Amino acid sequence: MNNFLSTLVILLTFSATSACSGNQGLQEKRNQTIAMADTLKKSDAEWKKLLTKEEFEVLRNKGTERAFSGKYNKHKEEGIYTCAACANPLFSSETKFESGTGWPSFFAPIAEENIGLEDDRAYGMLRTEVVCGKCGGHLGHVFEDGPKPTGLRYCLNSVALNFQKI
Ligand SMILES: [Zn+2]
Repeated sequence: MNNFLSTLVILLTFSATSACSGNQGLQEKRNQTIAMADTLKKSDAEWKKLLTKEEFEVLRNKGTERAFSGKYNKHKEEGIYTCAACANPLFSSETKFESGTGWPSFFAPIAEENIGLEDDRAYGMLRTEVVCGKCGGHLGHVFEDGPKPTGLRYCLNSVALNFQKI
């Protein structure tokens, strides 16, 4: 309990100091600018040189791998799933769950800013596309039928991911 209280005091002191400095908002904006500048923009020809045929089809052409065919569908090791194109950390094994759909499924990304969400009106449906926040590569879609605590199901293509064991 004493430990808890001292941690709380340290945290409060830290937030008070940050608030007094008045630079917090600016710092956040700067970080955003850095992140934007970091966005990878390459032509299709350049991506074709860097990616396998399957990776290009999914990441750059918004393709979908066959259900139950992906290497991470039943993958259960602890670690971080990164973007296969740019190595941006996207999802943790801690939020992976068995959805039964045949694609690796997660209920939350590592950080909201590491991914992007876009409207996808293909095939006469309105779905929410999930893209890599850094290179814009197509990862999959997000649906509102996931488990707690978010109720979301990020349904991804194994081909768009790499895995780093921790
Ligand atoms: Zn990426």
